[in-house]
Amino acid sequence: MTTPHDFDPRLLGARCDICPLGPKGCLRDKSMEWTPVPNQHQHTTVAAVGDMPGLKEVERGFPFANAQGAGGRWQNDALAPLGLKRSHIALLSSQLCTFPGPTSGARARQTAKVKKLRDTMAAAIMQQFRASGVKAAAAKRAAKAQVEEEIPDPTACCRPALLREASRYPHVFALGKAASSAIARTTGGIKNLNGDLLEVDLLPAEEALAPPWWPLRRDNGRLYRKVVPAFHPSFVDRAPANVHRWRSALAKGLRWFHNRLQWLEPDSILLQPTPEELDAFLEQEAPYWVLDYETDGILSPFNVRCFAICIPDMKDGRPALPIETPDTLARAVGVHVEKCAGGTGGLREDPDAEYGRYYSAYNEERIKETLRKAHTDGRTWVGHNLIGFDARVSKDWLGVWMT
Ligand code: SF4
Repeated sequence: MTTPHDFDPRLLGARCDICPLGPKGCLRDKSMEWTPVPNQHQHTTVAAVGDMPGLKEVERGFPFANAQGAGGRWQNDALAPLGLKRSHIALLSSQLCTFPGPTSGARARQTAKVKKLRDTMAAAIMQQFRASGVKAAAAKRAAKAQVEEEIPDPTACCRPALLREASRYPHVFALGKAASSAIARTTGGIKNLNGDLLEVDLLPAEEALAPPWWPLRRDNGRLYRKVVPAFHPSFVDRAPANVHRWRSALAKGLRWFHNRLQWLEPDSILLQPTPEELDAFLEQEAPYWVLDYETDGILSPFNVRCFAICIPDMKDGRPALPIETPDTLARAVGVHVEKCAGGTGGLREDPDAEYGRYYSAYNEERIKETLRKAHTDGRTWVGHNLIGFDARVSKDWLGVWMT
């Protein structure tokens, strides 16, 4: 049998002949051809598993084919910032056929439709059992087993093909809840799973397609792959505030895959600098400066307890990508201004500092003046709070807005 993309998933073990989206399936749109979308393999050690194909993928014949939406997010917000191209990560789908109707919301519609069909059928079967004298609990169990067999979940029907295809790769990103569940049998939500490091045995060693020289952990005839769940790009497209958490999970996963997850200590951490030392630190060349304040409260006037500044790891004269080994490591400076309960004992302090402070009034003003100069000389400041709270702290404490 040929399909529009000349691809028959049954040859990979998919159970299309009983699947509701298969050639004779009850949920397939019969006005269209049966069009499973092939996975996109690459000569690489990393695969990403997505959800089901959308209409664009069906039309073009490969996953994440749409330059907008999920495809665009994958390219522009995941791969490019990590220094990767599309060919660096193979793309697989946890379900190879789309559900009829628009791409958006297809997974939820499919789940609801399968549930509705099963509920209707289960009610009829239970009635029959009850009429023949079977007890309610036993009738319910029997009906459940029968409807799951009669109306299987399409992703479950696809799973044998997915495991076989994924077994070619030692490292797998599972993008979204459906992919995580299909690959790793996870049950939690993707917001909790994003960035977890899982070791998963997909198939018995003799069935896996991994080349024997790959350094997979072996145990009792099983081969364990490194699997990292992460958000699906279409979720990030709908909720773009999650893009940093998503990219962090992917970067962390790549470091784990390449055994580079260990923490790299900064090259230097300068604690309680003198005004001259802070000035010298801020005179360095750096592409950007990361700043974070800690204050006593969240209402103005802000009482600054301490702040820290650092410059990034560098590689080839630019900030190192999360998956690279840097040429030079980050440098940081930490400045405690006000003593607080709980304390940070043992820090260097000026002999004539006032009670509860680390610097004398004169030196504290020189520290602030050094910061003012750096805030207004045109350099690039970044920080997770810098366009909100920390910018207001700077304005309040130093009297200047960062340029
Ligand atoms: S969803 Fe998977 S199992 Fe179902 S018909 Fe398509 S390829 Fe086959």
